[in-house]
Amino acid sequence: MTILVIGGAGFIGGNFVLDWLAAGDEAVIKVDKLTYAGNLDTLQSLQGDTRHLFVRADIGDREVIGQLLAEHKPRAVVNFAAESHVDRSIHGPGDFIQTNVVGTFNLLESVRAYWNELPADEKAAFRFLHVSTDEVYGTLAANDPPFSETNTYEPNSPYSASKAASDHLVRAWHHTYGLPVLTTNCSNNYGPYHFPEKLIPRVILNALNGKPLPIYGDGQQIRDWLYVKDHCSAIRRVLEAGTVGETYNVGGWNEKANLDVVKTICSLLDELQPRADAQGYAEQITYVTDRPGHDRRYAIDARKLERELGWKPAETFESGIRKTAE
Ligand code: NAD
Repeated sequence: MTILVIGGAGFIGGNFVLDWLAAGDEAVIKVDKLTYAGNLDTLQSLQGDTRHLFVRADIGDREVIGQLLAEHKPRAVVNFAAESHVDRSIHGPGDFIQTNVVGTFNLLESVRAYWNELPADEKAAFRFLHVSTDEVYGTLAANDPPFSETNTYEPNSPYSASKAASDHLVRAWHHTYGLPVLTTNCSNNYGPYHFPEKLIPRVILNALNGKPLPIYGDGQQIRDWLYVKDHCSAIRRVLEAGTVGETYNVGGWNEKANLDVVKTICSLLDELQPRADAQGYAEQITYVTDRPGHDRRYAIDARKLERELGWKPAETFESGIRKTAE
């Protein structure tokens, strides 16, 4: 058996492929355009592993994706491919619309054509899993309950709007064409192979390189953090047992203000690799102008995934951030 992973050279997709191959015998065909965010080093340890094939292609390349589907006959397609950085979406939204919206549409059409031709038993067993974000729900006030699967979509950035559009396309391909889809909406991830433009890896690298640790605005924006390996285990579980057409929120009940995350990393680095001048790394914190339209708070209610599929994260924020800093 084989699965097709789109965007498998990115942060989460790379971790997912590693975990997938470590957990079982099924082969993985990994497709990725290798944008600035793609990193094949993630998969160095797989060299020589014949269960793994990498193909460089765009999510929207119907010819290549169609050929791969026809040749390898995967039982599932998991889509991680996206432009994923909010700041970049503010400065240049075009790529986000092209990859996240038009790309997802083209991928759905490639998969639908393949799925339509499968024998009845394989057709029934096939799954298309779309990986998405909690940012589609918009922002929460301090006292609001966390986002559940029934929250309305209120995306505020070009990134989250493009992801919301992709989620709607996936939903429509199920309701209109019967494609057996699953969607996961996850909170902020962190962990190995995270691209250094994101908060946690940037803070670690800047701290160790003696550079400023930039904090947007007052640093009181709240995010709900999940160790990337826990996100991967959730996706595996949803793929295995999720109900077709359903969406599942994924989160670790770890709401933290950005400033507290940065201070936690500074304390860990003070312990693991103290500065030569014996000052704390928190000395390097610098406040910078806030991001336009910056959502104030995200928080995920992951009880559906726990109740229906028995998934729970293995890491707390404290254990996961220590592993990441180490
Ligand atoms: P990432 O930016 O690290 O990786 C994205 C990957 O997609 C890269 O390897 C890139 O080369 C590839 N890609 C981009 N455009 C492509 C295209 N047109 N065709 C083929 N491949 C293309 O992102 P990530 O953090 O690994 O996120 C993966 C998915 O998970 C995204 O859909 C994102 O919206 C979602 N998500 C991310 C987080 C997070 O905290 N990082 C949280 C929830 C959901």
